[in-house]
Amino acid sequence: MTRPFCYAGSPAQIVFGNDSIGSVGAWIAKAGRKRALVLSTPHQKADAEELANKIGELACGVFSGAVMHTPVEVTEAAMKVVLDTAADCVVSLGGGSTTGLGKAIAYRNDIFQIVVPTTYAGSEVTPILGQTEGGRKTTVRDAKILPEIVIYDPSLTLGLPVAMSATSGLNAMAHALEGLYARDRNPISTLMALEGLRAFKLSLPKIVTSPNDTDARSDALYGAWLCGTVLGAVGMALHHKICHTLGGSFDTPHAETHAVMLPHTAAFNAAAAAAELSQAAAIFGGSIGGGLWDFSKQIGAPMSLKDFGMTEADLDRAASIAVENPYWNPRPIDTQSIRKLLQDAWEGRRPE
Ligand code: NAD
Repeated sequence: MTRPFCYAGSPAQIVFGNDSIGSVGAWIAKAGRKRALVLSTPHQKADAEELANKIGELACGVFSGAVMHTPVEVTEAAMKVVLDTAADCVVSLGGGSTTGLGKAIAYRNDIFQIVVPTTYAGSEVTPILGQTEGGRKTTVRDAKILPEIVIYDPSLTLGLPVAMSATSGLNAMAHALEGLYARDRNPISTLMALEGLRAFKLSLPKIVTSPNDTDARSDALYGAWLCGTVLGAVGMALHHKICHTLGGSFDTPHAETHAVMLPHTAAFNAAAAAAELSQAAAIFGGSIGGGLWDFSKQIGAPMSLKDFGMTEADLDRAASIAVENPYWNPRPIDTQSIRKLLQDAWEGRRPE
Protein backbone atom coordinates (compact mmCIF):
# COMPACT_ATOMS: atom_id res chain seq x y z
CA MET A 1 0.00 0.00 0.00
CA THR A 2 1.35 3.47 -0.92
CA ARG A 3 1.86 5.80 2.07
CA PRO A 4 0.28 9.23 1.75
CA PHE A 5 2.76 11.83 0.45
CA CYS A 6 3.26 15.35 -0.89
CA TYR A 7 5.57 15.97 -3.84
CA ALA A 8 6.96 19.16 -5.39
CA GLY A 9 9.43 18.88 -8.30
CA SER A 10 12.52 21.08 -8.21
CA PRO A 11 12.30 24.06 -10.61
CA ALA A 12 16.06 23.93 -11.33
CA GLN A 13 17.24 23.36 -14.91
CA ILE A 14 19.69 20.44 -15.00
CA VAL A 15 22.13 20.01 -17.90
CA PHE A 16 24.30 16.87 -17.90
CA GLY A 17 27.00 15.79 -20.34
CA ASN A 18 30.69 15.64 -21.12
CA ASP A 19 32.03 19.02 -22.25
CA SER A 20 28.77 20.73 -21.28
CA ILE A 21 30.93 23.45 -19.68
CA GLY A 22 31.11 24.78 -23.24
CA SER A 23 27.40 25.64 -23.02
CA VAL A 24 27.67 28.00 -20.01
CA GLY A 25 27.70 31.10 -22.23
CA ALA A 26 24.64 29.91 -24.15
CA TRP A 27 22.75 29.30 -20.89
CA ILE A 28 23.67 32.78 -19.62
CA ALA A 29 22.29 34.26 -22.86
CA LYS A 30 19.19 32.05 -22.75
CA ALA A 31 18.48 33.34 -19.24
CA GLY A 32 18.68 36.91 -20.59
CA ARG A 33 21.75 37.76 -18.47
CA LYS A 34 24.60 39.89 -19.75
CA ARG A 35 27.17 40.16 -16.95
CA ALA A 36 28.32 36.91 -15.30
CA LEU A 37 30.72 36.92 -12.36
CA VAL A 38 32.59 33.60 -12.17
CA LEU A 39 33.24 32.32 -8.61
CA SER A 40 35.84 29.81 -7.41
CA THR A 41 38.22 28.94 -4.58
CA PRO A 42 41.82 30.22 -4.80
CA HIS A 43 42.77 26.64 -5.78
CA GLN A 44 40.52 26.72 -8.88
CA LYS A 45 41.26 30.32 -9.88
CA ALA A 46 42.96 29.38 -13.17
CA ASP A 47 39.96 27.21 -14.16
CA ALA A 48 37.61 30.10 -13.31
CA GLU A 49 39.64 32.50 -15.45
CA GLU A 50 39.61 30.01 -18.32
CA LEU A 51 35.82 29.71 -18.01
CA ALA A 52 35.43 33.51 -17.94
CA ASN A 53 37.51 33.68 -21.13
CA LYS A 54 35.32 31.05 -22.75
CA ILE A 55 32.17 32.93 -21.76
CA GLY A 56 33.69 35.99 -23.42
CA GLU A 57 31.77 39.26 -23.44
CA LEU A 58 29.02 37.88 -21.19
CA ALA A 59 31.57 37.53 -18.34
CA CYS A 60 32.27 40.57 -16.15
CA GLY A 61 34.99 39.16 -13.89
CA VAL A 62 36.25 36.44 -11.53
CA PHE A 63 36.07 36.30 -7.73
CA SER A 64 38.31 33.48 -6.50
CA GLY A 65 38.05 33.94 -2.72
CA ALA A 66 35.54 31.16 -1.87
CA VAL A 67 36.52 29.13 1.21
CA MET A 68 35.04 26.30 3.31
CA HIS A 69 31.97 27.07 5.52
CA THR A 70 31.01 30.31 3.69
CA PRO A 71 32.25 32.95 6.16
CA VAL A 72 30.15 36.12 6.08
CA GLU A 73 33.28 38.31 5.56
CA VAL A 74 34.03 36.51 2.28
CA THR A 75 30.43 36.91 1.13
CA GLU A 76 30.62 40.63 1.91
CA ALA A 77 33.83 40.98 -0.11
CA ALA A 78 32.17 39.14 -3.01
CA MET A 79 29.04 41.32 -2.73
CA LYS A 80 31.24 44.35 -3.23
CA VAL A 81 32.62 42.84 -6.45
CA VAL A 82 29.07 42.00 -7.59
CA LEU A 83 28.14 45.68 -7.17
CA ASP A 84 31.38 47.06 -8.66
CA THR A 85 31.05 44.87 -11.78
CA ALA A 86 27.24 45.27 -12.03
CA ALA A 87 26.96 41.49 -12.28
CA ASP A 88 23.48 40.14 -13.06
CA CYS A 89 24.41 36.49 -12.63
CA VAL A 90 27.02 34.32 -10.87
CA VAL A 91 28.62 31.17 -12.25
CA SER A 92 29.94 29.03 -9.38
CA LEU A 93 32.67 26.69 -10.62
CA GLY A 94 33.73 24.21 -7.93
CA GLY A 95 32.55 22.16 -4.96
CA GLY A 96 30.24 22.91 -2.03
CA SER A 97 32.36 25.84 -0.82
CA THR A 98 32.09 27.79 -4.08
CA THR A 99 28.43 26.87 -4.51
CA GLY A 100 27.92 28.09 -0.93
CA LEU A 101 29.34 31.51 -1.82
CA GLY A 102 27.03 31.83 -4.85
CA LYS A 103 24.06 30.84 -2.67
CA ALA A 104 25.06 33.34 0.04
CA ILE A 105 25.08 36.13 -2.57
CA ALA A 106 21.70 35.01 -3.95
CA TYR A 107 20.25 34.85 -0.42
CA ARG A 108 21.07 38.55 -0.10
CA ASN A 109 20.13 39.87 -3.56
CA ASP A 110 18.37 36.99 -5.37
CA ILE A 111 21.01 37.01 -8.14
CA PHE A 112 20.61 34.39 -10.89
CA GLN A 113 22.88 31.40 -10.24
CA ILE A 114 24.49 28.92 -12.60
CA VAL A 115 26.55 26.19 -10.92
CA VAL A 116 29.17 24.00 -12.56
CA PRO A 117 29.95 21.39 -9.87
CA THR A 118 33.37 19.73 -9.68
CA THR A 119 32.80 17.53 -6.58
CA TYR A 120 29.99 15.18 -5.51
CA ALA A 121 28.77 17.24 -2.50
CA GLY A 122 25.33 17.93 -4.01
CA SER A 123 24.88 21.45 -2.65
CA GLU A 124 24.02 22.81 -6.12
CA VAL A 125 20.53 21.24 -6.05
CA THR A 126 19.43 22.30 -2.56
CA PRO A 127 17.77 25.50 -1.28
CA ILE A 128 19.99 25.24 1.82
CA LEU A 129 22.83 27.58 2.80
CA GLY A 130 25.28 26.98 5.65
CA GLN A 131 27.31 30.06 6.57
CA THR A 132 29.59 31.06 9.43
CA GLU A 133 29.82 34.26 11.41
CA GLY A 134 32.12 34.69 14.38
CA GLY A 135 32.94 30.98 14.27
CA ARG A 136 29.25 29.93 14.47
CA LYS A 137 27.69 27.99 11.60
CA THR A 138 24.01 28.56 10.90
CA THR A 139 21.80 27.01 8.25
CA VAL A 140 18.99 28.68 6.32
CA ARG A 141 16.54 27.32 3.76
CA ASP A 142 14.99 29.70 1.23
CA ALA A 143 13.73 29.42 -2.35
CA LYS A 144 16.14 32.24 -3.40
CA ILE A 145 19.09 30.01 -2.42
CA LEU A 146 18.34 27.24 -4.95
CA PRO A 147 20.53 27.73 -8.06
CA GLU A 148 18.51 28.18 -11.26
CA ILE A 149 20.78 26.19 -13.60
CA VAL A 150 23.22 23.35 -12.87
CA ILE A 151 25.62 22.25 -15.60
CA TYR A 152 27.12 18.84 -14.76
CA ASP A 153 30.20 18.11 -16.83
CA PRO A 154 31.79 14.79 -15.75
CA SER A 155 35.05 15.64 -17.53
CA LEU A 156 35.66 18.37 -14.91
CA THR A 157 35.80 15.72 -12.17
CA LEU A 158 38.60 13.70 -13.78
CA GLY A 159 41.12 15.70 -11.73
CA LEU A 160 39.25 15.32 -8.43
CA PRO A 161 41.82 13.44 -6.32
CA VAL A 162 40.87 9.82 -5.55
CA ALA A 163 40.70 10.40 -1.77
CA MET A 164 38.38 13.40 -2.24
CA SER A 165 36.29 11.47 -4.76
CA ALA A 166 35.71 8.73 -2.18
CA THR A 167 34.80 11.04 0.72
CA SER A 168 32.77 13.41 -1.44
CA GLY A 169 30.85 10.41 -2.80
CA LEU A 170 30.14 9.07 0.70
CA ASN A 171 29.01 12.58 1.71
CA ALA A 172 26.45 12.47 -1.13
CA MET A 173 25.42 8.89 -0.26
CA ALA A 174 24.62 10.04 3.29
CA HIS A 175 21.98 12.42 1.85
CA ALA A 176 20.33 9.53 0.02
CA LEU A 177 20.50 7.16 2.95
CA GLU A 178 18.81 9.56 5.35
CA GLY A 179 16.28 10.41 2.64
CA LEU A 180 15.10 6.79 2.68
CA TYR A 181 13.70 7.05 6.20
CA ALA A 182 12.75 10.77 6.15
CA ARG A 183 9.25 11.37 7.45
CA ASP A 184 8.47 13.62 4.48
CA ARG A 185 9.87 11.23 1.85
CA ASN A 186 7.86 10.51 -1.30
CA PRO A 187 8.08 7.79 -3.97
CA ILE A 188 10.27 10.00 -6.20
CA SER A 189 12.77 10.89 -3.45
CA THR A 190 13.04 7.18 -2.61
CA LEU A 191 13.64 6.22 -6.25
CA MET A 192 16.28 8.93 -6.57
CA ALA A 193 17.98 7.88 -3.34
CA LEU A 194 18.23 4.23 -4.35
CA GLU A 195 19.41 5.07 -7.87
CA GLY A 196 21.99 7.47 -6.40
CA LEU A 197 23.31 4.81 -4.01
CA ARG A 198 23.52 2.29 -6.88
CA ALA A 199 25.40 4.79 -9.05
CA PHE A 200 28.04 5.36 -6.35
CA LYS A 201 28.28 1.66 -5.44
CA LEU A 202 29.11 0.97 -9.07
CA SER A 203 31.38 3.93 -9.80
CA LEU A 204 33.51 4.74 -6.72
CA PRO A 205 35.51 1.46 -6.70
CA LYS A 206 36.25 1.98 -10.41
CA ILE A 207 37.35 5.60 -9.82
CA VAL A 208 39.72 4.45 -7.06
CA THR A 209 41.48 2.04 -9.40
CA SER A 210 41.11 4.12 -12.60
CA PRO A 211 40.58 7.83 -11.83
CA ASN A 212 40.38 8.59 -15.57
CA ASP A 213 37.52 6.17 -16.24
CA THR A 214 35.11 8.63 -17.87
CA ASP A 215 32.08 6.33 -17.57
CA ALA A 216 32.67 5.86 -13.85
CA ARG A 217 33.15 9.62 -13.39
CA SER A 218 29.90 10.20 -15.23
CA ASP A 219 28.02 7.65 -13.06
CA ALA A 220 29.39 9.27 -9.89
CA LEU A 221 28.31 12.77 -10.93
CA TYR A 222 24.89 11.38 -11.89
CA GLY A 223 24.75 9.90 -8.36
CA ALA A 224 25.72 13.28 -6.91
CA TRP A 225 22.80 14.95 -8.69
CA LEU A 226 20.36 12.31 -7.43
CA CYS A 227 21.60 12.29 -3.84
CA GLY A 228 21.83 16.09 -3.67
CA THR A 229 18.27 16.39 -4.96
CA VAL A 230 17.11 14.10 -2.13
CA LEU A 231 18.89 16.36 0.39
CA GLY A 232 17.09 19.37 -1.09
CA ALA A 233 13.70 17.65 -1.03
CA VAL A 234 13.32 15.91 2.34
CA GLY A 235 14.43 16.29 5.96
CA MET A 236 17.62 14.79 7.36
CA ALA A 237 18.11 13.23 10.81
CA LEU A 238 20.75 11.79 13.18
CA HIS A 239 23.56 11.40 10.67
CA HIS A 240 23.52 15.02 9.47
CA LYS A 241 23.04 16.34 13.03
CA ILE A 242 26.05 14.42 14.33
CA CYS A 243 28.26 15.47 11.41
CA HIS A 244 27.17 19.08 11.97
CA THR A 245 28.10 18.78 15.67
CA LEU A 246 31.50 17.24 14.92
CA GLY A 247 32.34 19.78 12.21
CA GLY A 248 31.01 22.76 14.16
CA SER A 249 32.44 21.98 17.60
CA PHE A 250 35.54 19.92 16.82
CA ASP A 251 36.44 21.30 13.39
CA THR A 252 36.56 17.85 11.79
CA PRO A 253 36.79 17.88 7.96
CA HIS A 254 33.35 17.97 6.27
CA ALA A 255 33.24 15.15 3.70
CA GLU A 256 35.61 12.90 5.70
CA THR A 257 33.38 13.16 8.78
CA HIS A 258 30.36 12.08 6.74
CA ALA A 259 32.43 9.18 5.41
CA VAL A 260 33.45 7.91 8.86
CA MET A 261 30.01 8.33 10.45
CA LEU A 262 27.77 6.91 7.71
CA PRO A 263 28.12 3.15 8.45
CA HIS A 264 27.54 3.80 12.17
CA THR A 265 24.50 6.07 11.88
CA ALA A 266 23.01 3.75 9.24
CA ALA A 267 23.49 0.70 11.49
CA PHE A 268 22.03 2.59 14.46
CA ASN A 269 18.90 3.64 12.55
CA ALA A 270 18.48 0.29 10.80
CA ALA A 271 17.26 -1.07 14.14
CA ALA A 272 14.17 1.16 13.78
CA ALA A 273 13.91 1.57 10.00
CA ALA A 274 14.79 -1.88 8.65
CA ALA A 275 11.98 -1.85 6.07
CA GLU A 276 12.85 1.63 4.79
CA LEU A 277 16.53 0.65 4.47
CA SER A 278 16.03 -2.88 3.11
CA GLN A 279 16.65 -2.04 -0.57
CA ALA A 280 19.75 -0.01 0.31
CA ALA A 281 20.97 -2.92 2.45
CA ALA A 282 20.53 -5.22 -0.54
CA ILE A 283 22.71 -2.89 -2.67
CA PHE A 284 25.49 -3.13 -0.07
CA GLY A 285 25.35 -6.89 0.50
CA GLY A 286 22.61 -7.44 3.06
CA SER A 287 23.61 -5.48 6.16
CA ILE A 288 23.48 -1.71 5.75
CA GLY A 289 25.97 -0.77 8.51
CA GLY A 290 28.47 -3.57 7.87
CA GLY A 291 27.98 -3.32 4.10
CA LEU A 292 28.68 0.43 4.03
CA TRP A 293 31.69 -0.07 6.31
CA ASP A 294 33.11 -2.71 3.93
CA PHE A 295 32.45 -0.42 0.97
CA SER A 296 34.21 2.53 2.64
CA LYS A 297 37.19 0.34 3.42
CA GLN A 298 37.28 -0.95 -0.17
CA ILE A 299 37.47 2.60 -1.56
CA GLY A 300 40.11 3.70 0.95
CA ALA A 301 37.96 6.21 2.86
CA PRO A 302 38.94 7.29 6.40
CA MET A 303 37.44 4.85 8.92
CA SER A 304 37.79 6.40 12.38
CA LEU A 305 37.26 9.71 14.18
CA LYS A 306 40.59 9.08 15.94
CA ASP A 307 42.29 9.96 12.66
CA PHE A 308 40.96 13.54 12.91
CA GLY A 309 42.76 14.14 16.22
CA MET A 310 39.64 13.71 18.36
CA THR A 311 40.17 12.31 21.87
CA GLU A 312 37.89 10.00 23.86
CA ALA A 313 37.13 12.96 26.17
CA ASP A 314 35.84 14.87 23.12
CA LEU A 315 33.34 12.06 22.55
CA ASP A 316 31.57 12.77 25.89
CA ARG A 317 31.15 16.41 24.92
CA ALA A 318 30.09 15.53 21.35
CA ALA A 319 27.42 13.12 22.68
CA SER A 320 25.98 15.81 24.98
CA ILE A 321 25.92 18.45 22.23
CA ALA A 322 24.34 16.01 19.76
CA VAL A 323 21.32 15.43 22.03
CA GLU A 324 21.01 19.04 23.26
CA ASN A 325 18.32 20.16 20.82
CA PRO A 326 15.77 17.43 20.20
CA TYR A 327 14.98 16.54 16.58
CA TRP A 328 13.13 13.73 14.85
CA ASN A 329 14.99 10.49 14.17
CA PRO A 330 13.53 7.07 13.30
CA ARG A 331 15.17 5.63 16.43
CA PRO A 332 14.94 7.55 19.72
CA ILE A 333 18.22 9.14 20.77
CA ASP A 334 19.79 9.37 24.21
CA THR A 335 23.24 10.44 25.37
CA GLN A 336 24.32 6.90 26.21
CA SER A 337 23.46 5.36 22.83
CA ILE A 338 25.04 8.29 20.94
CA ARG A 339 28.16 8.03 23.09
CA LYS A 340 28.45 4.32 22.18
CA LEU A 341 27.91 5.07 18.48
CA LEU A 342 30.65 7.73 18.64
CA GLN A 343 33.00 5.30 20.43
CA ASP A 344 32.52 2.76 17.63
CA ALA A 345 33.17 5.47 15.00
CA TRP A 346 36.21 6.73 16.94
CA GLU A 347 37.70 3.23 17.03
CA GLY A 348 36.65 2.50 13.44
CA ARG A 349 34.88 -0.70 14.51
CA ARG A 350 32.77 -2.53 11.91
CA PRO A 351 29.07 -2.25 12.79
CA GLU A 352 26.93 -5.45 12.70
P1 NAD B 1 35.08 22.12 -1.34
O1 NAD B 1 34.15 22.83 -2.26
O2 NAD B 1 35.44 22.79 -0.05
O3 NAD B 1 36.39 21.74 -2.14
C1 NAD B 1 37.56 21.34 -1.46
C2 NAD B 1 38.81 21.72 -2.26
O4 NAD B 1 38.85 20.93 -3.45
C3 NAD B 1 38.78 23.18 -2.73
O5 NAD B 1 40.06 23.70 -2.64
C4 NAD B 1 38.34 23.08 -4.18
O6 NAD B 1 38.79 24.14 -4.96
C5 NAD B 1 39.00 21.76 -4.59
N1 NAD B 1 38.33 21.10 -5.73
C6 NAD B 1 37.01 21.08 -6.00
N2 NAD B 1 36.80 20.36 -7.11
C7 NAD B 1 37.99 19.93 -7.56
C8 NAD B 1 38.40 19.14 -8.67
N3 NAD B 1 37.53 18.61 -9.55
N4 NAD B 1 39.72 18.90 -8.81
C9 NAD B 1 40.61 19.37 -7.91
N5 NAD B 1 40.29 20.12 -6.83
C10 NAD B 1 38.99 20.39 -6.66
O7 NAD B 1 34.52 20.66 -0.96
P2 NAD B 1 33.07 20.01 -0.98
O8 NAD B 1 33.17 18.78 -0.19
O9 NAD B 1 32.54 19.95 -2.36
O10 NAD B 1 32.16 21.07 -0.22
C11 NAD B 1 32.12 21.13 1.19
C12 NAD B 1 31.25 22.29 1.63
O11 NAD B 1 29.97 22.20 1.02
C13 NAD B 1 31.00 22.31 3.13
O12 NAD B 1 31.11 23.65 3.62
C14 NAD B 1 29.56 21.83 3.25
O13 NAD B 1 28.92 22.34 4.41
C15 NAD B 1 28.96 22.34 1.99
N6 NAD B 1 27.77 21.55 1.55
C16 NAD B 1 26.59 22.22 1.52
C17 NAD B 1 25.44 21.55 1.12
C18 NAD B 1 24.14 22.29 1.07
O14 NAD B 1 23.15 21.78 0.58
N7 NAD B 1 24.09 23.51 1.58
C19 NAD B 1 25.51 20.21 0.70
C20 NAD B 1 26.74 19.57 0.73
C21 NAD B 1 27.89 20.26 1.15
